[in-house]
Amino acid sequence: MADYDVIVVGGGISGLLSALTISRHGKSVLVLEKDSMVGGNCNSYNVDGFQVDTGVHAITHLREGPLRRLIDEYFTYSPVFMDHGDYYVRTEKGLTKLPSNIKEFVTFDILPRKDRFMLSQALTRALTQVTFGMLEGNQPVYDHLPGGLSADTYDFVDAVAYSLSGKSMKETSINRILYGGSFVRDSISEDIFEDEPQESTSYTSRITDTLSRYQLKSHFSNISRLATNKIAYAQGYPRGGLKSVLNAVLYSMPKTVQIKTGSRVKKIISEGGKVTGVATDKGVFKASTVVYSGFAKALPDLIDLPPDYKENLSHIDQTLSLTIWLGLSEKLKMFDYTGSEIWFKGGAYWAMPVSNHDPGLAPAGKQLIGFTFIIDDKKNIESEKKRAFELILRAAPGIENMIEMTHYQVTIPEKAAVTINGYFATVRPPVENLYLVGTDVDNRSMGVTRAAYSVLELLRAMKEDKKLLP
Ligand SMILES: Cc1cc2nc3c(=O)[nH]c(=O)nc-3n(C[C@H](O)[C@H](O)[C@H](O)COP(=O)(O)OP(=O)(O)OC[C@H]3O[C@@H](n4cnc5c(N)ncnc54)[C@H](O)[C@@H]3O)c2cc1C
Repeated sequence: MADYDVIVVGGGISGLLSALTISRHGKSVLVLEKDSMVGGNCNSYNVDGFQVDTGVHAITHLREGPLRRLIDEYFTYSPVFMDHGDYYVRTEKGLTKLPSNIKEFVTFDILPRKDRFMLSQALTRALTQVTFGMLEGNQPVYDHLPGGLSADTYDFVDAVAYSLSGKSMKETSINRILYGGSFVRDSISEDIFEDEPQESTSYTSRITDTLSRYQLKSHFSNISRLATNKIAYAQGYPRGGLKSVLNAVLYSMPKTVQIKTGSRVKKIISEGGKVTGVATDKGVFKASTVVYSGFAKALPDLIDLPPDYKENLSHIDQTLSLTIWLGLSEKLKMFDYTGSEIWFKGGAYWAMPVSNHDPGLAPAGKQLIGFTFIIDDKKNIESEKKRAFELILRAAPGIENMIEMTHYQVTIPEKAAVTINGYFATVRPPVENLYLVGTDVDNRSMGVTRAAYSVLELLRAMKEDKKLLP
């Protein structure tokens, strides 16, 4: 006899959204979280009077995307999202708006004129070739760059590649740049995927499969998008910080959901090829369905899986990030804007002065800024931290005199990075009664938006499998 209808392993945003939505379909749910707090990468906490988030966050596709759909259908109340604002590029000369289309790029005088001309030609050529089927689009961005560009231009393209895929221009496909037409983080438009199932037959997918699936549908709209950038996607920052998204999910949770923290799932139990529950140090919990939201890569540690499936999971590519939060004793003029900025010269960061969105995140008159870097997991973390901190000092001279609080976070931002031929798991692994959710299960968009897409896929699969009523 099962203790619960469904057990959700992991209490990050994917696991909690799964628990909320499944319970609203009349099921009893147990969430097991290994840490002492729920939220995973979607939370905020206090450091010396400043409220830092788990990484710098801008939530995308808020107007009609997957998170909006879940909020409208399942939340008791919606978190308040404030407009993200503009993206800027910082150089020694100050801030310049990041170009969001080819027209703006032509006048983007941060890069040499000759380079801008050659790059826009290369971009237009690649887009035309992809559009007319002359190019698949899964070649590295680097292969499409004309020769003889300046070091700054290579650094700029690298920074854009990192912000779109978490990887360098040699590991990011030209498709990712083309379909991230506005050169910023909101990489794939939601209309492309409307009502399109993520998975049909296979248990894992390569990012390139999905890209080619949507190419046909979006060819012509993307040409006009690149030329005019008429489509604007809503990006926002939650008032009250990232934890207000988590709080809205928790507040909406019905009483039929039980959450146990400090409970690491060590084994997913199966009998006769069907999952029947999970085991933790504190005991065994039975359920007719288990939803796993930890790293898909770690699934083979918990349950026996077919060798070819295990092999696929081992190819999931991840990125390591470092966020440095600085609490400043006063508001700095050079960070007097709402939005975020990138630095690209001799290293890259993405930064957001979040207390400009919500002054409540810093003590009165003070400022809180988060700087996120992609770091090399093969290098010494302490030396990576030092290098990153030095880059901030180079980009914002004088900031060192204002620093009251410094806080470092080293995290894996998404469980799978969108790299060339990178692997993703899909919602149904090859074991009955087991489902997967999270940012390694769906390759659409990024971060929380991607997590929300994976939960919509979960609901679709569970309805198809008659585990939930339609
Ligand atoms: C620096 C940084 C910047 C980011 N920027 C953005 C952004 O701008 N926009 C955006 O939308 N997103 C962004 N993200 C990504 C976003 O935060 C994540 O995609 C999202 O929070 C992932 O949620 P998740 O539930 O899938 O995974 P996680 O948050 O990793 O949650 C998984 C949970 O499962 C638990 N768990 C794992 N294994 C077990 C087990 N065996 N037993 C019990 N519990 C287990 C973990 O402890 C964890 O709590 C960023 C993340 C970082 C770190």
